[in-house]
Amino acid sequence: MLSLDLPQAFPSQKTVNNHQILVVEDEDVIRDMIVIALEEEGYEVVTASDGRTALNWFQDKEVKEPELDFDLIILDLMLPQINGLDICRLLRYNGNIIPILILSAKASETDRVLGLEVGADDYLTKPFSMRELVARCRALIRRQGFSQVSSAPIRKFRDVTLYPDECRVEVRGKEANLSPKEYRLLDLFMSYPRRVWSREQLIEQVWGPDFLGDTKTVDVHIRWLREKLENDPSQPEYLITVRGFGYRFG
Ligand code: CA
Repeated sequence: MLSLDLPQAFPSQKTVNNHQILVVEDEDVIRDMIVIALEEEGYEVVTASDGRTALNWFQDKEVKEPELDFDLIILDLMLPQINGLDICRLLRYNGNIIPILILSAKASETDRVLGLEVGADDYLTKPFSMRELVARCRALIRRQGFSQVSSAPIRKFRDVTLYPDECRVEVRGKEANLSPKEYRLLDLFMSYPRRVWSREQLIEQVWGPDFLGDTKTVDVHIRWLREKLENDPSQPEYLITVRGFGYRFG
């Protein structure tokens, strides 16, 4: 007996997962297969078929597509113009931490090691299954998500080390017992080394816009911080007074 409300075997609605992947591959057939596999999983995919175009996505990003922020690059090694290893090296050199999955026709151990040495996160040798590729992509994007929430970088300047995740500071290897305000003041200073802050800006940032006291409060806290950080608080090397403006760190 026929039924009109059979469940659809191939639901037409794709789930969108809000992740964007750049696929850099010069072989049309492989590139198209990757795009289909990833789009099927709900990824938004942008492609490049040579190294120069791929790099342009990063260099002109602000100009061209400010809303485009890739979560992963799938990068073929042998590419026209600029090869995959150089792209990888350049992105890392410029401080870009986007996960990179390298695709290579070569299976030799040296290629693999070289790829990982220039900062790639994973490696697949052609031919590979699309299922494997999608699984690796998912894992890399998930791992990146975790690393973004897990740890803020430790800040260090000479003998002062600030551990943001632990909200604590070490001076010359020993725990410095800072009050919450002193800690937030130091955190701000160390986040912007050598930047000069006026007393009003420091009040705004650390005490908040509703603070009713006067700017002398800043001077008092700076004095306390100096006693905890400086070798000689009367000759400060960390918290420097910038006459007529305010204070800077380092
Ligand atoms: Ca190629």
